[in-house]
Amino acid sequence: TTFTDLALGAPLLKALADENYTAPTPIQAQAIPYVLDGKDLLGIAQTGTGKTAAFALPLLQKLSMDKARLMPRSTRCLILVPTRELAQQVADSITTYGKYLRVRTSVVVGGVSIRGQIRRLSTGTDVLVATPGRLLDLIDQKAVTISDLHTLILDEADQMLDLGFIHDLRRITKLVPAKRQTLFFSATMPKQIAELASAYLTDPVQVSV
Ligand code: AMP
Repeated sequence: TTFTDLALGAPLLKALADENYTAPTPIQAQAIPYVLDGKDLLGIAQTGTGKTAAFALPLLQKLSMDKARLMPRSTRCLILVPTRELAQQVADSITTYGKYLRVRTSVVVGGVSIRGQIRRLSTGTDVLVATPGRLLDLIDQKAVTISDLHTLILDEADQMLDLGFIHDLRRITKLVPAKRQTLFFSATMPKQIAELASAYLTDPVQVSV
C-alpha cells in the first residue's frame, strides 16, 4: 500500500513527502480507509507504530472537504489525550501534516493560563486537542461547546483510565452528539477499556498491530 492508494489528497501527500514518509505503517494502511469511510474504529496500537498519523491523516482529509462555516466557540473534532505532552505532540503532528491545508488546531491543557485558550477558542476551531480537566473547565465557562462536533478521538485510552480520568471522560462523552464518528485508541485492551469502547463506539471496525 502507498499513501496515494489510500485516497489522500495532494496537500497531504506533499506534506508526507516533506517528512520523508515513503509508505504507510501497518496501522495506517489498515485504519485510514475505514476512517475515510466514516466508520467507528477501535485501534489497538502502541506509541511508535504511527498511530497518530493513522487518525490525523484521514481526519485532515475529511476536514479539507468540509465547507461548513466554523461557528464561534465550536469545534469540528475533539481529540482527548491523557497528558499535556501528548496533547502538544498530537497537535504538532496535525500542524505538520496539515501544513498545506487551512486547518485551525487548538490545544487545551492545564498548567497554563486559561485566558489565552478562551480567546483562541472564541472564533472556533477545526481540531481541539485536549486533556480532560481543562476541557471541562472551558466547557463550564462556556468558552467552548462540543455539542456539534462530528469526530471524537480518544488517544491512549488505557492511560486515561490509569490517570483517573474516567469520571471526566463520562462527563465529556455525555456532551457530544450521538451522531458522530468515534475513534478509540489504546495500547492495551483490559476489560474496563473494552467496556468503555463498546459504550462509545457504534459497530466499530477493530484494527490491531
Ligand atoms: P506515533 O506512533 O504516532 O507516536 O508515531 C511514531 C513516529 O513515527 C513519529 O515520529 C512519526 O513521525 C513517525 N511516522 C509515522 N508514520 C510514519 C510513516 N508512514 N513513515 C515514517 N515515519 C512515520
